Amino acid sequence: MGVQETSQPVTGDGAAGECPSTDKPFGDKVKGIVEGFLDVLLPRCCVLCRSPLSMGAYRWICPSCAGKIPTPPAACPRCALPFPSEAALADSPGHLCANCRRGAHRFAKAYSLGLYEGSLRELIHHYKYGGKIHLKDDLVTLLLERAGLMARGSAYNAMVHVPMHHSRLVSREFDQSRVLASELGRRTGMPHLPRVLERIHATPAQVGLSKVERRRNVRSAFRVVKPEAIANKRLLLVDDVMTSGATVNECTRMLQRSGASAVEVVTLARAM
Ligand SMILES: [Zn+2]
Ligand SMILES: [Zn+2]
Repeated sequence: MGVQETSQPVTGDGAAGECPSTDKPFGDKVKGIVEGFLDVLLPRCCVLCRSPLSMGAYRWICPSCAGKIPTPPAACPRCALPFPSEAALADSPGHLCANCRRGAHRFAKAYSLGLYEGSLRELIHHYKYGGKIHLKDDLVTLLLERAGLMARGSAYNAMVHVPMHHSRLVSREFDQSRVLASELGRRTGMPHLPRVLERIHATPAQVGLSKVERRRNVRSAFRVVKPEAIANKRLLLVDDVMTSGATVNECTRMLQRSGASAVEVVTLARAM
């Protein structure tokens, strides 16, 4: 987790019936019928704008709000750090950011939906701090549609998530990265190995720290519990938000030390 923030007030609850009810057609499959039936009893509304929802590609956000989540910007092809403009990639699609040119990252590649701002940030806030675990449905849909994971799925042998320390689970109630990886696995068939990587220190929040302090903060915070499960495997490492990359870098270091042959990273967003 590159970004640690305190709980923010969020609007709307997405699953309650405060938005106006709407008649919805029942689907012709059992799942559609059940969902439609529940929608009539408990009308769902968009978690971002509160307008009534009908069945579509997304379950908890409306098509209009989904459209406002920008497609990934022009970014470093290795670490997904957004570039200020498209110009950097216009003549040279392989142009790397200064950090990657310095060899700052151990992972081979990082994918992300986009910058941690606007409606994407709001959606992640609802998910992480608002207890809206059900938003995993739409976050994973967005990852599959926009972060290129559908095409890349066969490139990995398994997924590992950046785990939360058990002491933080008490206040957060669920490990958002674990839930994301589990849902991603369910939708793609890619095995998720939830107990391979363990966070052994409850590291202080990274927010406000310099790059050097972030690296020091997470150094030795993780251990690999079952090295035999990842030996010679190509892994996809899943986290929620990546800022400097210090956390995913440290996890990559431990995974590679335990025998992983390659590690790529996917996060919901890149924070600057
Ligand atoms: Zn909306
Ligand atoms: Zn880069």
